[in-house]
Amino acid sequence: MQKVSLMKARRTTRDDTRNNWECVGCDLPLPLNEQGLCADCAGKLERDLIRARDWEYSYAAFLIPERQEALRAQIIREFGAANELLVTPKPKPKNKRSHSTNTKRKRAIAAAAIREYTSEDVLQAAHDFIQKQGDEWVNFSRVAQYLQERFYHLKPKRLGQPEKRHNSLLKMIANYPERFQIRKEADQTGIYWIRLTS
Ligand SMILES: [Zn+2]
Repeated sequence: MQKVSLMKARRTTRDDTRNNWECVGCDLPLPLNEQGLCADCAGKLERDLIRARDWEYSYAAFLIPERQEALRAQIIREFGAANELLVTPKPKPKNKRSHSTNTKRKRAIAAAAIREYTSEDVLQAAHDFIQKQGDEWVNFSRVAQYLQERFYHLKPKRLGQPEKRHNSLLKMIANYPERFQIRKEADQTGIYWIRLTS
């Protein structure tokens, strides 16, 4: 197994000069996540972050401290105390910006976001969200924000029918008129409304 630096692991494959279909951690051509890691290496990174008590970046972000410590102890029992992917434990972020509430919120959202999903999952989530609102017509930007927070690195280009890939979530969803109706605000540009097709 190849040890990699945190910076390398955090870098996206796009910024990397290596072949972008190879895992940053193990160099194998496997399905990769947004960090350029295969499922195996992503698990190693996750355990390394928990070993370092780097809760903010890990899936354990939302656990109470006692549960986090219990999880850490369990990981060390099962997988050992040594890091599996990272060369050194990640130093705690020191600059003020990384401590801002906004950044913490973003990290918490990213940690809780669903990372494996299909177009159908996104469409179903949009449907459920619209249904839960009190009004028939919902401002599309609210739906978009909800979906972007719920689904990790939501990229409309990867969703929808393969022959009709779109850059915008709006256009992707507009491809399903049997499920969603979209209308443009008459006098204001850029505002769209969406409702469920009944
Ligand atoms: Zn790997």
